[in-house]
Amino acid sequence: MHPVLARKGETVLLMGNEAIARGALEAGICLAAAYPGTPSTEIVETLAEVAQYTKTYVEWSVNEKVAFETAYAAAISGVRSLTAMKHVGLNVAADILMSSAYAGVKAGFVIISADDPGHHSSQNEQDNRWYGFISHIPVIEPSSAREAYFYVKEAFKLSERYGHPVILRSTTRISHTRQPILLEEDIPIEKACKGSFERVIERWVLVPGHARKLKSKLMEIWRKIQMETSEPFVKIINPGMKTVVIASGIAYSHVSEVLNLTGLDDKITVVKVNMPVPLPRKPIEEVLSTAEKVLVVEELDPIVEDQVKRISLEIGSTSKIFGKEYVPLNDELSVQAVYDAICKFLGSCSPQRWESIGDIKTDPPIPPRPPVLCPGCPHRSSYYILKTSLNRAGFRNVIYTGDIGCYTLGYQKPFETQMTSFEMGGAIGIGHGLSKVVDELVIAIVGDSTFYHAGIPGVVNLVFNKGRAIPVVLDNSVTAMTGHQPHPGSGYTATGEATAKILPEDVLKAVGFETYVINPLRVKESVATLQKALEEFKKGKNIAIVSRARCALEVMRDARRSRVVLPVYRVDPEKCTACQACVNLAACPALVVDPNTRKPVIVEDLCAGCGLCASICPYKAIQVSNTPSSEWEKLW
Ligand code: SF4
Ligand code: SF4
Repeated sequence: MHPVLARKGETVLLMGNEAIARGALEAGICLAAAYPGTPSTEIVETLAEVAQYTKTYVEWSVNEKVAFETAYAAAISGVRSLTAMKHVGLNVAADILMSSAYAGVKAGFVIISADDPGHHSSQNEQDNRWYGFISHIPVIEPSSAREAYFYVKEAFKLSERYGHPVILRSTTRISHTRQPILLEEDIPIEKACKGSFERVIERWVLVPGHARKLKSKLMEIWRKIQMETSEPFVKIINPGMKTVVIASGIAYSHVSEVLNLTGLDDKITVVKVNMPVPLPRKPIEEVLSTAEKVLVVEELDPIVEDQVKRISLEIGSTSKIFGKEYVPLNDELSVQAVYDAICKFLGSCSPQRWESIGDIKTDPPIPPRPPVLCPGCPHRSSYYILKTSLNRAGFRNVIYTGDIGCYTLGYQKPFETQMTSFEMGGAIGIGHGLSKVVDELVIAIVGDSTFYHAGIPGVVNLVFNKGRAIPVVLDNSVTAMTGHQPHPGSGYTATGEATAKILPEDVLKAVGFETYVINPLRVKESVATLQKALEEFKKGKNIAIVSRARCALEVMRDARRSRVVLPVYRVDPEKCTACQACVNLAACPALVVDPNTRKPVIVEDLCAGCGLCASICPYKAIQVSNTPSSEWEKLW
């Protein structure tokens, strides 16, 4: 049984994202919709895994905006719902986010924003607490995985109390930390999953006349939340001291650890903030009335700090307030960083009663390893085929615009086929714009999931506005980078049900592209197809390419499960001339060079049998070394 399904009173070890899923189920959600993105993915992944037991409708939507709309529609019909996304995903959903604050909800609606301080897996580390201010939606911020479980339930209560959406902001450290969690309630068996949509035009139709009235109501709700909210969103620990530390979210966990380790816990008032936006006013006023000096500790931007300073000014407090003078503005906080900040703030340091582990030292040191495409990844072959055919067709200095996914790693040598990467679906719009202003050929490379997410409007625009970029969809039939979630081209839903399979080539053909589909495992055949396609492009046709082969990780997993033997390649040292063509052009991690002979050797345990290296070798020195199953190719 999945630990998320355990009964009340049991203690289960849950990851922060699983804890959010469990809390939401206890709160009685009937619908969850999301687009996968690290560090948020496991929330809806967990809900999908247990959907049939919890009677919850769960979907992977094509992007965050659609996910938001789907979940919000349930909430305006009186059905509790949740949507989840990584921080940059909220940018995609920002439009409906703003409107949802005006119209409000009829049942609890929580938007999970999983932020990524430290850029662990993201293009930026934006602090999504700001979205709370611009949308006037409160932001709840747990301090640990255990609190994520508790506060998601509080977020639903708050949402229903005010008929308003609520953002629960997690960060990578909370989303991906495991903690034992004592389950407080059972998941309800009976839930109100049948909605009823009331045709209240002046609430749901945001024409200016209606929106103006709703804005006044929104500001009233906003003020009420600020004035009426206190515990459990703000807690004053050890009240009455002249020295105060205010800490929000994960920063509170670091502060409490530092104070505990340095023996300062009974000498300082600590204000634990779990609602940074809007900061509840009364407890802050109370603390500022007696405090002499205050340090605000929070990760990334000075969101709580600025509000504390404003409240202080408004009530004429004489407390001296510090924050980003001492607390880093970028990157994740750590116990050491918080210790350093508190130390500077106090002007004297309590003895550090622990040894900071800092970076773990190993002997010999671990060499830096840049991220690489997996052995057998079809993108490697696609890039090789693309570059070879462009070269043969006479195109020089090609510009490759890129996108977000495993294939972004194509920016590295030897491929160098991703020269831009800004946001989901950006390859095509950027490619189109470049094609209007440069002479070189522009190839816009997008993954399949990204194509459905935000690429389709780009290809429509490319045709409509007569751009000359060539879209290339690298289709492995799954959202590979976030852990193999399905999408509209997969043929199954989040819960594994069979569904319509919408192929990128059908969409591309429908909007006006002559579309060529290749199998990157068949290198020679694919090069010939693309050369033909490029000749058509030279004649003025709009062409698009779909390169389709499954993610190598999925193929290897299926091969293990079904006992299908994949080919394994071997270098024949007699035939090998050590020319290094295979190593330099394929850059496969399964190919290692023997330092004595300079000849490559294939690590058989890593080889996925894609055969790219064998196609490259001019001396036919790389050959299959085993007897693969007759049906092995079907797995790709
Ligand atoms: S996970 Fe799949 S798609 Fe991503 S690099 Fe590995 S093989 Fe390629
Ligand atoms: S391409 Fe062939 S000959 Fe050249 S190093 Fe690789 S295996 Fe040896």
